[in-house]
Amino acid sequence: MTEHQKAIILELGKYGEITRHRLLQRLFNHQINHFELDRALLTLSNVESTRRDNITYYKLRDSVRKYIINGEYDSVARQSLNPERLRAAHSTPCDAAQAYFLIAFLHEKHFAGQPPPIVRLRKPIKGKHRARGWGGAKTVKCGDSTVRRGYVSLPITPYPGVGLPHGYLRVGLVIHEFTHAFEMLKFGSTSHDVRFTLFLDTLLQETESFWRI
Ligand SMILES: [Zn+2]
Repeated sequence: MTEHQKAIILELGKYGEITRHRLLQRLFNHQINHFELDRALLTLSNVESTRRDNITYYKLRDSVRKYIINGEYDSVARQSLNPERLRAAHSTPCDAAQAYFLIAFLHEKHFAGQPPPIVRLRKPIKGKHRARGWGGAKTVKCGDSTVRRGYVSLPITPYPGVGLPHGYLRVGLVIHEFTHAFEMLKFGSTSHDVRFTLFLDTLLQETESFWRI
C-alpha cells in the first residue's frame, strides 16, 4: 500500500461516510491532489462509493472498519491480538492520578527495585486543547554515576469521551507510551512492530481490571 493509500484509509476510518470534497480537504497535509486521490481510490478495494444528489460519498467497507482503532497507530491496531480491548482502552478517559497509578503498578510488576519512570503530564500549547504523548527512556545523573529511567510524557487533558481521542489523556495512550519505556529498558529499542504490540496487549491485560468495568 502506498503512503497516499494509507493516508486515505486512515482518514476514512474516522468517518462513517464522507464526501469526496471533504476527504480531499482532510488529506491536504498529505499533499494529495484530485488526480492522486482518484487514482488511489480506484485501486483501493476496501473503499466503496455511493452517489446521491450529484455528490459522491466514500466510506470504508465494514470488513475493514473493524481494524481501525481511533487513537492507535494503524499498524498496531492490525497486529493486536485483542483489538476489542485496545479499542476500549483508547475510548476510556483517564485523569492524571489514574495515569500515575497505572504506570506505578506496571513499574512495580516489571521493574521492582529499579528507579521509577519519569512521568510528565503536559499542558497543551497555548490556544490548543491537545498535546502529544511520548514514551522512551532517559539516562539521568545519580550521584557520581548515571541510571537509565523510563520516560513517559502524556497530555494532561482527559479525553472528553466524544469525538476523536488523539491528543487527549486516555488509558490506551498511558499504556501505549509506557510500552515504549518498557521496551527501551528491556531491549534498548522500540517501534510499533509486532513485539511492541505483543507487550502493549499484555500490559493492557494486566491492568484491565482497574479501568474496565
Ligand atoms: Zn508509539
